[in-house]
Amino acid sequence: MRCPICQAEFSPQATDCMPFCSARCQSIDLGRWLDEGYALPHAADPEDDETPDDNWSQEPSNGTGKETK
Ligand SMILES: [Zn+2]
Repeated sequence: MRCPICQAEFSPQATDCMPFCSARCQSIDLGRWLDEGYALPHAADPEDDETPDDNWSQEPSNGTGKETK
């Protein structure tokens, strides 16, 4: 069997970390998944840019009376 992380041939009976050859490769794979999981919401999180935009469109109709034209 071949380890998907380090591509080393190993015997499935020689490890508890299937399908990886060792705990190290298992944690490397886990780290990759976590990295992707964290990277996705981070990249698709424009909250800092959207919040001020929302406030701008709401403020005029909310604070009527103060800013008369
Ligand atoms: Zn490996």
